[in-house]
Amino acid sequence: MDVLDFIIDSHRAVSQPELEHALVHKFDRVTLYRTLNTFNENGLLHTVADSSGSMKYALCNTHCEGNNHHHEHLHFHCTSCSETVCFEEVMVTRPTLPAGYAAVDYNFVVNGICRKCQA
Ligand SMILES: [Zn+2]
Ligand SMILES: [Zn+2]
Ligand SMILES: [Zn+2]
Repeated sequence: MDVLDFIIDSHRAVSQPELEHALVHKFDRVTLYRTLNTFNENGLLHTVADSSGSMKYALCNTHCEGNNHHHEHLHFHCTSCSETVCFEEVMVTRPTLPAGYAAVDYNFVVNGICRKCQA
């Protein structure tokens, strides 16, 4: 539960190295990885692949369950402070793929400068 609390408190997508750093006294790397996977499979977290190079984890909304994730929302990655946030209110339409291609995962990330960094 510490893993979830940390992500809830941070109000943004957090990377695995960040989590390792914050929770290293409680979990080893393998346990942390397994925990993140479990939360992902339970519909509590979703992954975000931004341009920072490490996979990030963000909270799911209440519509997600099991392997059934219901959110095609936008993510915003700030190239200045490297923070990534979910825009749950900005929905993205799933693109239609050419015949013969099956999508497993969607990642919608916009790179830019966040509000904080523009101030
Ligand atoms: Zn989800
Ligand atoms: Zn920023
Ligand atoms: Zn998200």
